[in-house]
Parts: sequence; structure tokens; C-alpha cells
Amino acid sequence: MMDMSSPRPDPELASMPKVLLHDHLDGSLRISTLIELCRRRGLALPTRDPGALKQWFEGNAMAGSLERYLQGFALTVAAMADVQALERVAFEAAEDARAQGCVLAEFRMAPLLLQPHGVAPDDALAAMLAGLERSELACGLIVCGMRHEAPERVAQAADLALRHRVSPQRAVGVVGFDLAGPERGWPATRHAKALARLREAGLPLTLHAGEADEGQRVLEAVALGAQRIGHGVRLADLLNTDEGPQALQTLQAARVHLEICPTSNVQTGAAVSIADHPIRSLWDAGVSLSFQTDNQLVSCTTLNREGQALMDEAGFQWADLLAMQEQALQASFLPAPITQAASNKLQAWAEVQGLR
Ligand SMILES: [Zn+2]
Repeated sequence: MMDMSSPRPDPELASMPKVLLHDHLDGSLRISTLIELCRRRGLALPTRDPGALKQWFEGNAMAGSLERYLQGFALTVAAMADVQALERVAFEAAEDARAQGCVLAEFRMAPLLLQPHGVAPDDALAAMLAGLERSELACGLIVCGMRHEAPERVAQAADLALRHRVSPQRAVGVVGFDLAGPERGWPATRHAKALARLREAGLPLTLHAGEADEGQRVLEAVALGAQRIGHGVRLADLLNTDEGPQALQTLQAARVHLEICPTSNVQTGAAVSIADHPIRSLWDAGVSLSFQTDNQLVSCTTLNREGQALMDEAGFQWADLLAMQEQALQASFLPAPITQAASNKLQAWAEVQGLR
């Protein structure tokens, strides 16, 4: 049965060249792949019926807490825990992004999560990169460190990221580093040393911040060298205070870009609804941002659905969505020839649509 309450992507949005910057591989598996991998590995699922399993994810997503939201990941990570599965999941994620009209994509994953399942982190990373390379879409991988883990573990993830980074010899490689996981009570400053090392090595940072914790965490992440912020929605509260103008200036001076994931934010309680999402006030204030998916399986969404929801429910126009793609391209961590080619496609599309 079709869900009439959800916005449907129209053909125009599907044809718009889009930029995917924030998508977790372990949150975006195809449901059919998850079921097949669990069957093969003998893992228990709440149900093997695809429709019922989708509802199970929806139920977890709508519980209104980041902690509950994160539960589905125990299942997906266990299902992905061998090199063949990792290669496949990465390849399918890239192909799905391409089918949605993306012109480049940066995926992310914490390779150390696979270690307890017996997969060596270097092998996990190599398998995901091989999967991305098999796709025709221009892709890169962001390594996540888990912020609630010990600084030594995050330092280990940083070493991994540097060992597999993109280079003239390695066309598809690691392009950035992120801190993910439960935010409140786990400040990024715990990992300042590893982050400084990455920055000095020239690997760009995007940090989850201002999602489950206050807007000040966004400024903290910027001070730690983050060029992009995952979510950052609570920044909107800060902009309404006396500190607002200073905060805005700091962000603009550092050319910081926010990766906003509207549906995920509503699900975890970081926003009340799409209509009342802080993306509106952040956009009106002139903050560089784009709409992103976060987790296509766990959040039951796609990039086209996110864009459509912003137009249908939050009053955004085509020109806004186009400007968001341009800002996302400027913020991409992929090599310049790739972002330039993507930019050319976007400009050509905009001209055909009469948006330029
Ligand atoms: Zn995320």
C-alpha cells in the first residue's frame, strides 16, 4: 500500500544533479540486501518480511530519541561484517545514489565497529573502497570515529583514515574524518589530539555536532578544525541570542557548511517537524548548508524525498535547492576535477530548467 502522507519525489527533482555528503553506509543498506545478508550469516531479524521490517525501522526511527534511533545499527553492522558484504553494500549505496541523480557522493562508516565481528579494520576499509570504485559514480569515503569510545580508539581510526586516503595513486579513497555516535556527554574535545593530527596531515574534518546537544557544540567543532558539520541544527537557537552575530561571523569566516538531514532530525527529536525545522532560519541567516539523508534505511528516506519535503512542507523554492547543491559542491572533500565536473553538470541542468 502506498503511503500517501509521504511526499513523492517528482521527476524534476530526480533529474536535478545532487550532491550527497552525509550518508552512513551502515544506515543505508537496501532492505533486500539486509535480509539476504542476515539469512546467509544466520542472524536473527525481527521479521524477514521486507514490509514489516521497514515498519520496524520506522518504529525505531519515530521513537524520538537518538539512542533508540541508533539501535537498528547493531543489526546492520552485524549483517555487513565480512569483506564481501562490505564491498557489496558500498557498491549498492553508490549505485542507488547514482539512480537518484547524484553527481558525486561521500559515504561514511566507522571501520572499527566491525572489529568485534572479526573483520580487521584495514580489510573493512579496503573492501568498502573497492565497492565504491566498482560504481560509475564519483565517490569518496569518510572514516568515522565513535565519539563515546576512548581517545586511543579514535586515534586508531584516524591512523586508518590516513593510511587509506585518496591520492594520485588511489582514485577512490578516504576523503575525510568524522566523529559519530551519541553526542550528549561525549564532547569532541576528548579527541582534540587525534583531530589536530588529521588537520595537520591535511585530511578534512566533518563532525556531528549540535544535533542532540546545544549549538555551542558547533562552534566547538569549528574550533577543532571542522570544515563541515553533521546536522548543526541547534545552532539556530544560538543565532537567536546575543552571541548570534559573532557565531555567524565565525562560521562564515571559516566557510563552514552544515549537512542537514531533515527527516532524521525530526525522528531523533532534533527538530519538531519539517515545516518548523531550523533549516529555514539557518538558511535565511545565510549559513552555507545542504539537505542530506543521514541513513536511507534507518530513516526510511532518499535524497529526492528530503528535497521534496523541503519544498512541500518548508516553503523552499527550486532556486534554494539549486543554491544548496552549489554550496554542497564547494564543501565537498572530493578532488577538484570531480567537483568541477559535477558543477558543470549542475549548471547545464539549471540552464535547461531556466533557473540560470
Ligand atoms: Zn549522521
